[in-house]
Amino acid sequence: MSMTTRMPVLFVGHGSPMNAIEDNVWSRGFKELALTLPEPRAIVAISAHWYVDGTCATDNDRPETLHDFGGFPEALYRVQYPAPGDPALAKSLVDLLSRSKRASLRSDWGLDHGTWSVLVHLRPAADRPVVQLSIDGRSPPFTHLEIGRALAPLRDNGVLILASGNIVHNLRHALSNTGSGDTATPDWATRFDTDVASAISKRDAAFLARALDSTTGQRAHPSPDHYLPLLYAVGASDERDAVSYPITGFDLGSLSMRTVRWG
Ligand code: ZN
Repeated sequence: MSMTTRMPVLFVGHGSPMNAIEDNVWSRGFKELALTLPEPRAIVAISAHWYVDGTCATDNDRPETLHDFGGFPEALYRVQYPAPGDPALAKSLVDLLSRSKRASLRSDWGLDHGTWSVLVHLRPAADRPVVQLSIDGRSPPFTHLEIGRALAPLRDNGVLILASGNIVHNLRHALSNTGSGDTATPDWATRFDTDVASAISKRDAAFLARALDSTTGQRAHPSPDHYLPLLYAVGASDERDAVSYPITGFDLGSLSMRTVRWG
């Protein structure tokens, strides 16, 4: 296997954990995307669902599949994603990040559903090591971009950087839509999704760092956890990367499933 291919960077809109086990437009989209990806040596995943105080990397030999949700069918709790960990990669991540920011190793996390609900389709064999990197909820947007930039050199060593969130994620709105049967996408959701996509295409990091400050941004993200993974992916990409959107559209009316690929 060649190690000379510079790996792409992905931001995946993960949406409902049910996408892991349902055959739907989103899971089929993940499977189609998988066919176009070069073979990674390892995967570093930044998931909206590991949003904590501090920047930490998982250093477990065998990371646990975390069923970090409630009220879903039994079949979803039976899903396992038995990818190995990579303690050496976790250590090198922490070393890389410690040049600009304090980072640490943690073994009390594993793979949360932001990571595995997508990887079951992107890499069903679970044969590549996966290390998760947490999102420090105390850091300003520019810090997340900076951490992403620090991760960029890993791409030359066969590491796929997989950021997982949603570009529009107002769960209260999305779930009330389901209840009322109204699945029309509201204007504010379309506007935020397209404004962010246009800033991604233009590499307008300043816009992306400030996007949640606007009224629309607040509406799209009552909390920033599902937006911030995008900043890691933007940071890890550069102007040499072609930008594409392998998956677009909304689930539950207002949940943006837009997936972005750089390179
Ligand atoms: Zn989520």
